[in-house]
Amino acid sequence: MKTSFDVIVIGAGVMGASIAAALVESGLDVALMEKGIGGGQGATRDTGGIVRGLELDPALRPLTRRDAHHGRTGIVHALFERSLKQTGVAYIASAEVCGLYLDAVGIEGTQNVELHASVKALDNGRFSAFCKDECLLIERNGGTVDARAAVSDLCRYISEKAIFLDHLAVDRCVELEGYVQVHAGKLRLDATWVVDASGADGPLPRPHGAVHARTIPFTRMGCDHAPSMPIIAHSLNTYLLPLGRNLMQVGGQRRHHAEHASQLNLSVMDNEQDVIERVARLGFGPQHSLAVVTQVAWDAYTDDGRPLIGRSSSGSHVYLATGFCGIGFKMAPSVAELLAFELSGLMAGVQLDADHRSIMKPFCPSRFTEVALS
Ligand SMILES: Cc1cc2nc3c(=O)[nH]c(=O)nc-3n(C[C@H](O)[C@H](O)[C@H](O)COP(=O)(O)OP(=O)(O)OC[C@H]3O[C@@H](n4cnc5c(N)ncnc54)[C@H](O)[C@@H]3O)c2cc1C
Repeated sequence: MKTSFDVIVIGAGVMGASIAAALVESGLDVALMEKGIGGGQGATRDTGGIVRGLELDPALRPLTRRDAHHGRTGIVHALFERSLKQTGVAYIASAEVCGLYLDAVGIEGTQNVELHASVKALDNGRFSAFCKDECLLIERNGGTVDARAAVSDLCRYISEKAIFLDHLAVDRCVELEGYVQVHAGKLRLDATWVVDASGADGPLPRPHGAVHARTIPFTRMGCDHAPSMPIIAHSLNTYLLPLGRNLMQVGGQRRHHAEHASQLNLSVMDNEQDVIERVARLGFGPQHSLAVVTQVAWDAYTDDGRPLIGRSSSGSHVYLATGFCGIGFKMAPSVAELLAFELSGLMAGVQLDADHRSIMKPFCPSRFTEVALS
């Protein structure tokens, strides 16, 4: 069996699968390793799959772009677009917050965004009585991607063109002169670069205090009429995601933090009650909705709300791609494209251009303390 690669990607959540596919497409020799099944374990298993560009932090904008960073869009963007249901995404928020969203997109991003002074334009005015002082933004080209379809397409592409090893956990990595040894059960593989895309619970050390695990509870609710598009209800700090005509998913807010996902308290706590109270404030009171099931998922978080993308310490051949803070699904195609560009450049000995460096700077893991692998 082949044991030496340009890049080994650890973790086949949406991020690892996207990065591996983009690396394969750029001509690198890649292995993707997953302890379970692709998209079936970590945050990706439970993702809402909402894809939207509007973000309050302008640094995140390049990661939520739907078009190419470097020339044409690649396989990952194409597979995402194929699985996208373009319903639009609605934001119900104060005039001030809507203004901040619009400022963050800048002039070039506003073609797809409609601003309404009231929420009447959404679903025949059904929210009007409940959100009297709120405005409405509709991002017309947003929607939801079928996460299972997208990740399984990515994993199939990697299996066909490179190596995808599932049901095999990476135990540890050892950094040697210019390459990394990856140990997984009986296997020992070598790679010039390793990408740690193992979410909130990976096998490798990360900069101390840089990333932690946080629960993301959600409740599925039967309802008389699900909203016509996903709704981000800003002042209620929740989202409503239509799953069918009479079913929606709503985000809960009772969170638990821990260093690793395996240490999280995954009990439902009082999340269901919390969700019931939140949706009642949007007009889905007990006569219009019924909580069916509440689950607790998780993701990897950072304290500044920005992911960790880049070398785990200067000179290291381990790249981190984690800490996606509950919004990593929509970022996966751009993160994959940017990392593929960077790693192919490094393999070819090409200097990274200033534009690329400035996009990536806010995500550099060295903003936290550095670590040594071994
Ligand atoms: C309920 C919920 C709703 C969400 N809704 C949205 C949304 O609407 N829009 C959006 O943009 N984002 C959303 N997110 C966030 C988004 O889903 C995550 O940010 C994204 O899925 C993170 O992907 P990932 O690949 O980094 O991590 P993960 O999906 O956690 O993948 C990590 C992978 O690494 C593997 N792994 C771990 N350790 C090892 C090891 N030792 N060896 C090999 N493999 C290993 C795991 O098994 C796992 O498959 C949501 C998240 C949740 C939980």
